[in-house]
Amino acid sequence: MSDVLVLCYHAVSPSWPAPMSIAPDAFERQLRFLVRRGYRAATVAEALSDPPAPRTVAITFDDAYRSVLELARPILDRLGMPASVYVPTAWAGRDAPMSWPGIDQWVGGPHEHELRCMTWEELTGLADHGWEVGSHTRSHPRLPELDDAALDGELAGSRTDCESGLGRECQSLAYPYGAVDRRVVAAAQRAGYRHAVTLPRGLHRPEPLHWPRVGIYHVDGEARWRWRMKISPLARRIRASGPWESVDGVRRRLVGAEG
Ligand SMILES: [Zn+2]
Repeated sequence: MSDVLVLCYHAVSPSWPAPMSIAPDAFERQLRFLVRRGYRAATVAEALSDPPAPRTVAITFDDAYRSVLELARPILDRLGMPASVYVPTAWAGRDAPMSWPGIDQWVGGPHEHELRCMTWEELTGLADHGWEVGSHTRSHPRLPELDDAALDGELAGSRTDCESGLGRECQSLAYPYGAVDRRVVAAAQRAGYRHAVTLPRGLHRPEPLHWPRVGIYHVDGEARWRWRMKISPLARRIRASGPWESVDGVRRRLVGAEG
């Protein structure tokens, strides 16, 4: 059976001290470590449906920060690695900094420019380059808190936005904050997604519309042992053995911790 490792990053910056931002040199060091371990990179759609190697890694970025284009892409290009980026479609191309609970404390400060979202043109350029561009909903809400109509609007609506913005099919979704329950998974299926990724603090058993990612944060760029422990196949198997139902408890603990 293939080892499929799905990593979740957000922004890449040499100076932004936010938990969801990682320094470019640490990011490159992490990728080179994966290459040395024999991992081959694929998009989420490829990795989950037809992994190209016994060890496959999908590098994902939530929120579509411009720094992914400016700082992460050159590093990934040097290593010949594609990636997947998840865009909150209502923010694509807007001049205003992205803002929601978890990142809004950076609005108005010296790092505000880090909150810029890519444009559809930039995202299309990434898709043309072999990257996958998926949905991160329209407005980045906590999906389990929405009623059915609003839930369908966020999921089906953002999928339509992606398809019209990119001119290609949108197959993948990342749940904002990793917040998800059975009703949200059913809505993602209804909206036509084939793959959807979560962000649990622990891991859980993978399902196509409920696939756990390993979140990589600022601190993981500084402490190499933390990073190695997080991606170790054995550690991941142990962490994934818990019951599905524990995920909601994990999600509650994550409130305010992610952008
Ligand atoms: Zn997000």
